[in-house]
Amino acid sequence: MVGQRLVCASANPYKVREIEEILLDCGVVLEPRPAEIADVEENADTLEGNARLKASAIAVATGSAALADDTGLEVDALGGEPGVRSARYAGEPSDAEANIEKLLNELRAVGATTVQQRRARFRTVVLVQWPDGTETIATGVVEGHIALVRVGDGGFGYDPVFIPDDGNGRTFAQMGAEEKHAMSHRGRALRTLAEELS
Ligand code: IMP
Repeated sequence: MVGQRLVCASANPYKVREIEEILLDCGVVLEPRPAEIADVEENADTLEGNARLKASAIAVATGSAALADDTGLEVDALGGEPGVRSARYAGEPSDAEANIEKLLNELRAVGATTVQQRRARFRTVVLVQWPDGTETIATGVVEGHIALVRVGDGGFGYDPVFIPDDGNGRTFAQMGAEEKHAMSHRGRALRTLAEELS
């Protein structure tokens, strides 16, 4: 596994930095997505399906092994929503602030005020598509709950409102990158992937 090179299908700089930092610990070298490759429409109805769409587009375009991930935030009181629709929960174009606003409003609307009623988890599927068309897939989950208001200014996406069970009551947005990686959905999925590849 040490020295394994993978082209990253994501162009999101926050995510790429996170993936890079986590995979460096495992000895994997992440190569940037070539700028000339067009964005893939993420229209599958599962996280795995979206990860496959993204990874295979890059693998076909580059002829190299490609890594893609897809993440969903599953909120029990909302029947698992926003789930696979997390990026565009509040509509197009994807807007993290608007997504958080909608999430907090929806939880208010169903009267979910206690920690138990606001149970949620992040789930990440990471998928490597090899040049011969075979795949390696891993999943990572972090359990927690949705805060009543935004707290913290680190991270991205839903970080200001997600309080992981192992975070001493803090949101992901209140943690440094290393602390978040150690318990995050993406960190867990990537470390499992690295083990599967080695
Ligand atoms: P993606 O599949 O990684 O693009 O993520 C889908 C949605 O979940 C996007 O709106 C992201 O902002 C959000 N998301 C993904 N990972 C995280 C995270 O680690 N913290 C907060 N939000 C995330």
